[in-house]
Amino acid sequence: MILFDCGEGTQRQFMLSKLSFMQISKVFITHFHGDHFLGLPGLIQSMSLNDRDKLLYIHGPKGIQELVGSLLTLGYFAPGFEIRVAELADGSSIDFDEYIVSALDALHTVPALSYSLTERQRPGKFDKPKALELGLPEGPLFGQLQNGHAVTWEGNTITPEMVMGPPRRGRKIVYSGDTLPTKEFIEFAKDCDVLIHDATADSSMEEKANRYGHSTAKQAATVAKECGAKELILTHFSPRYEDVTPMLIEAKEIFENTLVAEDFLEYTVSYTD
Ligand SMILES: [Zn+2]
Ligand SMILES: [Zn+2]
Repeated sequence: MILFDCGEGTQRQFMLSKLSFMQISKVFITHFHGDHFLGLPGLIQSMSLNDRDKLLYIHGPKGIQELVGSLLTLGYFAPGFEIRVAELADGSSIDFDEYIVSALDALHTVPALSYSLTERQRPGKFDKPKALELGLPEGPLFGQLQNGHAVTWEGNTITPEMVMGPPRRGRKIVYSGDTLPTKEFIEFAKDCDVLIHDATADSSMEEKANRYGHSTAKQAATVAKECGAKELILTHFSPRYEDVTPMLIEAKEIFENTLVAEDFLEYTVSYTD
């Protein structure tokens, strides 16, 4: 489980959800405004109280090392498990399992990052009619080819390339963090499956939102359209809004596939091929 940002309510929300915070293996913090990191000390202490022994990775912009260092010396506390902290800079990325997380400088009032989570390329589609045409019997040989191994049948060697389509792209999710729109971000988020974007205010508040390094719902929708996203999820609404419907409406005028983030929202990112 990968967690992006950790506001102060994070641990409690985990307890109210069907997920366990013990499963988190990596945390990516966008920047050091309280609503994005203040949940870390409580989360780490609770992990420790629950006898965690699994390593935890924490990533963030320059300064994350010091920040986590000071959070860990708060009160009489020493975690019972190892925490590895590593800074990420504009353009850097981390590779693990079947994913790559990349960072981009955001345009906020303090140093901040946006993140993309990209799944590795997947093998191409198995062309079953082609395999049958080559005389292969249905069965375990199909599996070997799908796993990238050549097989020999009745004296003929059949390689995966002969029966597999071109590799397919992995899914891509981009999280803006707090930011104004930038052309670098549009490039960074290009063709993503899901764009989760700062939508602090509605358009009537654009000047003020932008002054504080935030986007409006309409600006988020424009980014989604320009980067070719498939779905936009608006988030980070100012607490001034009791009802965020007007923001959803203004975003949908520009980008139809827009959703509003809400607590415990689940979204399945499907494959398109
Ligand atoms: Zn901020
Ligand atoms: Zn914020």
